[in-house]
Amino acid sequence: MAGINITELFGSMVFGDAVMKERLPKDIYNALKKTIADGTHLELDVANVVATAMKDWAIEKGATHFTHWFQPMTGVTAEKHDSFIVPDGNGKVITEFSGKALVKGEPDASSFPSGGLRSTFEARGYTAWDPTSYAFVKGNTLYIPTAFCSYSGEALDNKTPLLRSMQALSKQALRILRLFGNTEAKRVVSSVGPEQEYFLIDRDIYLKRPDLLYCNRTLFGARPPKGQELEDHYFGSIKQRVSAFMRELDEELWKLGVYAKTEHNEVAPAQHELAPIYTEANVATDHNQITMELMKSIAAKHNLACLLHEKPFAGVNGSGKHINWSISTNTGINLLEPGDTPFENAQFLLFLVAVIKAVDDYQDLLRVSVASAGNDHRLGANEAPPAIVSIFLGDELTEILNALENNTLYAGKCKTLMEIGATVLPHFPKDTTDRNRTSPFAFTGNKFEFRMLGSAFSIAGPIIVLNTIISEVLSQFADELENSTDFKGDLSKLIIRTIKNHKRIIFNGNGYDASWVKEAEQRGLSNLKTTPEALPALINPKNVDMFVRHGVFTKHELHSRYEILLENYSKTINIEALTMMDMVNKQVIPAVIGYQKELAELILHKKAIRANIETSLEENLLNRISKLSLLMEKRLNNLAEQTLAVRELKDNMAIARAYRERVYMAMIELRLIVDELEMLISSRYWSIPTYTEILNSVL
Ligand code: ADP
Ligand code: MG
Repeated sequence: MAGINITELFGSMVFGDAVMKERLPKDIYNALKKTIADGTHLELDVANVVATAMKDWAIEKGATHFTHWFQPMTGVTAEKHDSFIVPDGNGKVITEFSGKALVKGEPDASSFPSGGLRSTFEARGYTAWDPTSYAFVKGNTLYIPTAFCSYSGEALDNKTPLLRSMQALSKQALRILRLFGNTEAKRVVSSVGPEQEYFLIDRDIYLKRPDLLYCNRTLFGARPPKGQELEDHYFGSIKQRVSAFMRELDEELWKLGVYAKTEHNEVAPAQHELAPIYTEANVATDHNQITMELMKSIAAKHNLACLLHEKPFAGVNGSGKHINWSISTNTGINLLEPGDTPFENAQFLLFLVAVIKAVDDYQDLLRVSVASAGNDHRLGANEAPPAIVSIFLGDELTEILNALENNTLYAGKCKTLMEIGATVLPHFPKDTTDRNRTSPFAFTGNKFEFRMLGSAFSIAGPIIVLNTIISEVLSQFADELENSTDFKGDLSKLIIRTIKNHKRIIFNGNGYDASWVKEAEQRGLSNLKTTPEALPALINPKNVDMFVRHGVFTKHELHSRYEILLENYSKTINIEALTMMDMVNKQVIPAVIGYQKELAELILHKKAIRANIETSLEENLLNRISKLSLLMEKRLNNLAEQTLAVRELKDNMAIARAYRERVYMAMIELRLIVDELEMLISSRYWSIPTYTEILNSVL
């Protein structure tokens, strides 16, 4: 295959800065840049010129349509395509794209979840162009990233609150920077690099599993004789079909300006990971959505299926998503990087303890930001962070904080008394800061890595929470220090007090160890094991006040999100229960009956030959299968009853709890029996592809 010119390819389908500069009149370009940088209003005459330039460029790239691309609270993106054509009055058409159509759209949005934010008679929300994320051409369509709001201005999507949270963080972080004499920085931005895990399996096999098709995870499946225990897949050589897929994925991502960087095999068989280079949170979120969509569509082209579910297979590692998060000034200074001077180090320590306090104060919000039916299978399971939120700092940094707190010698490179604003911190080599993969929230040298996300998530939710809780703590710090008459003294006191009050959240040990759960309880850390347990955190008054204070969510918006998440949880389990019953009725029972019939007939045939012939193998097998079948029937009926009983309930929380405690438990019980039967029934009757077949389907 001919080599590709990556630098030419990269961003070639993006209406980015270089294209804008080249194609827009200078004053228009400057006006647009100002809008992007300062979030100012874009005048319609400017928008008109931009729209026309964008359309002409897009048509050259093969586009015939445009869409406002948005992120409703379904977690996936939505689009509605309109063509550029307009009748010219003479039976022909011209192409047209107005500034108005660029800036604002009105999708018929009555069917998107709003959690009661709109009644159906005022169902129309509108989409508004987000010029901070570039437009791009994919297929025959020009995609315009947009925010999605109701007419009363309430957010119906993930982008709106994300942008608000970025603003809040910028505002509060600037207050702190000013205290340290920084007058240059105009903005503080949060940057994110998401590591995305996924499974790739053969599409023909995938299509034979209704559970994968409708629920994105297997509801049955006996453990394969060879799973991941040899760990021979991790960073192993990549199979040809997979590498062809990865190559195409990289190229398509590069065209769209996504910095796809590393692709490798993960621990489980058929599991892989992609990580891009980090960018601003808003763009990283859009890019991650594009990445997940392309993974699915490009997989299909290779006759593969890409599974993004958190736990597609029981007993095999699930898939997560790590977000590497940092904050930096528009002048490029990473505020989570220890500096070279004592003063910079004091600033670093203040931001560091702000994160520590924020994570401790709002553990429940971080937990709820990663709660879903899918991720419930993973949090607390063997390869993933437990549902307890804690921070890994590494021994070195922890020791420094200890020395500060207790005013004792720090035994690092040399024995020093650590004094805030007077000591230069040692540089932490990145490699020693973090090889503890069990921590849900780890400091990794100059950034934090939040590891509790599920692979199918939009990263927007967790970033919104992170940005806002840090804003809250920074604003508290700024309130205190802005009134200080002894800045250095008060700064020291504040840092030391924060360490004292919040060090319980720091845990450098093995987070997967059972003893950690006990210890965390003693430390008073929260442990919200399931989604229904976690969700009330979203509407608890302390948290609502905090979001409202920083203009990230209104109370109404939070309550609506709470309802949507609850409903989404219940619906997910309901679909799973129905799919399970359907598969048992249509696939498992016929297989069980067919094989029993064969065995029974064989016994009869044998006995017809000679009455006292040996038939114990057939009879024992038949007996075991009969007994298990009876149990299966009972458990199937129980599942049906539980699923029906939920319908009697009215309150959304009661419904979600019932799905968890009754329906989901009934599913687990039924699965146990079916998996046992799978191991007994001849493969000639078993029409559902087994774990072995699925996990080894890509050769
Ligand atoms: P790993 O976590 O596998 O050791 P890296 O630390 O190199 O890998 O990077 C993981 C992700 O973190 C990448 O997406 C990378 O771009 C991102 N990253 C690196 N530095 C920062 C930073 N300062 N802020 C945010 N993300 C970062
Ligand atoms: Mg990784």
